[in-house]
Amino acid sequence: MPPFKACPSVSTSKDGDNVTMTWINRYASLGTAFSAEVLPTPVPDPTWVIRNPELSQAQGFPDDWLNGDEGLSVFSGNALWDGMQSRATVYSGHQFGQWAGQLGDGRALCLGEFQATPATKGSFELQLKGAGKTPFSRMGDGRAVLRSSIREFLCSEAMAGLGIPTTRALCLTTTPSKVIREEVETGAIVTRTAPSFIRFGHFEHFANQVSPEGARNLKQLADFTIAHYFQQEGAFSVDETVDLTMGLSGNPYAQLLHSVTLKTAKLMAQWQAVGFCHGVMNTDNMSILGLTLDYGPFQFMDGFNPEHICNHSDYQGRYAYGLQPQVAYWNLFCLAQALMPLIEDQELAMKALESYKTVFAEHWGQCFLSKLGLNRRSSEQHALEDQSLINDTLQLLATEQVDFTLFWRRLSHAAGVSEQSNSAWQSVSDLFIDQAAWRTWQDKYMNRLEQEKTVNFNERMLQVNPKYVLRNHLAEAAIQKSKRGDHSEVERLFNLLKTPFEEQPEFDHYAHLPPAWASSIEISCSS
Ligand code: AMP
Ligand code: MG
Repeated sequence: MPPFKACPSVSTSKDGDNVTMTWINRYASLGTAFSAEVLPTPVPDPTWVIRNPELSQAQGFPDDWLNGDEGLSVFSGNALWDGMQSRATVYSGHQFGQWAGQLGDGRALCLGEFQATPATKGSFELQLKGAGKTPFSRMGDGRAVLRSSIREFLCSEAMAGLGIPTTRALCLTTTPSKVIREEVETGAIVTRTAPSFIRFGHFEHFANQVSPEGARNLKQLADFTIAHYFQQEGAFSVDETVDLTMGLSGNPYAQLLHSVTLKTAKLMAQWQAVGFCHGVMNTDNMSILGLTLDYGPFQFMDGFNPEHICNHSDYQGRYAYGLQPQVAYWNLFCLAQALMPLIEDQELAMKALESYKTVFAEHWGQCFLSKLGLNRRSSEQHALEDQSLINDTLQLLATEQVDFTLFWRRLSHAAGVSEQSNSAWQSVSDLFIDQAAWRTWQDKYMNRLEQEKTVNFNERMLQVNPKYVLRNHLAEAAIQKSKRGDHSEVERLFNLLKTPFEEQPEFDHYAHLPPAWASSIEISCSS
């Protein structure tokens, strides 16, 4: 192993637009009950796999972060810049429905939190994933393999391209040093960013400590979270409208629960609408900010099947696609239980929590109406009819396990054409074996479209039904190339998936049905 080196100089001001960087490291300032100081473990001969200069620019990082040897050293865990305080945080959680006790950042290291001034870009935590053991590594080696790191990098950015809240990926480095899994694999380190990586499990951790100190820590964490991420100038931010009629306004902890509930409900609606399966929705993988967090055995479904399980180790199907919204609610219930000592009023907590059902249903309905190119109609009768059309659509897709992404994209092209024999309609019809069932659905849908008469509605469908998603086989092809030292396919997918709603005709083949071998890809938790 090379020695750990200090890396004191990083440009902290940008000429021209006068952006300056400040390390604020607020979570670290909570103290040793919350995180442990730990240095990354150096690796030999690191190299870049991929970098994300656009993100770097957008979040206000200095231009030279992703260039040169210093950046490579820092983002492979061989050095720290002045002002960084590398720490691993402690959390607990429920895994596969069971209390798992203490977990924590076993292979993630927060390098610090920084703010660009002017503060319009916000503040961000930087995290290395795979940079060596921490006090929370338990039996693990603290490392990550190239395969799973490429998947995390690409999917973070693919989700951002789809407009779905997510942690982001800044860069990915690799090293010749080997990591042992089921076989010997190449090690890699992904650097991710988020305003905060606080999880439901952080709250569960302190709630589970039955001691005055645990109670104090729980309150400190909740107050910290509210002040920094949920309030502006002492008030809950207006876009996450806390319903004052619910009587939550005098109770900041109930308000916190309610805000997290709303964010989570919206996230679930967005996942379902693009056919995204997370695969490991344990409470320690749930972001308090409603971000998609911890990319492991995730999958964008190919053929639509509500019972689809993407995680090879999920034997019971707990995290099947169709169950995700319910699981999120169950996880929110765990968060509510953790917050109960602070909320102190069970009825209020239940009110905050129960808004999940209506908010999820509303957003889910809105997502699928938009996918169909329809506007919400005010009368109850019409709303019921439209709900039934959505249900029929999903039933139709499920019966034949029709490719989810292709169906919606082809429908978006066809919907603007009134002539049913047109080739655009033909390409949707081609996806179905049971032509009678398809035609029954098509008649019903076209009747409904006639009542819509919104200008350019199918243009808008093309903005919500992506042409490109990170299908497993696409990621797999990029991984295989990268393992041979050629990272060009990772770069190509990264660029393609930034704008998944654009046609990009030269990449048409990336939007085709998956090859037969795609169904044999098996991905489990251990990576
Ligand atoms: P995950 O299934 O990736 O959400 O991980 C669950 C817990 O195990 C988290 O606390 C991780 O930090 C930890 N963990 C997973 N893989 C490793 C590893 N290779 N080394 C150390 N800790 C790990
Ligand atoms: Mg995790």
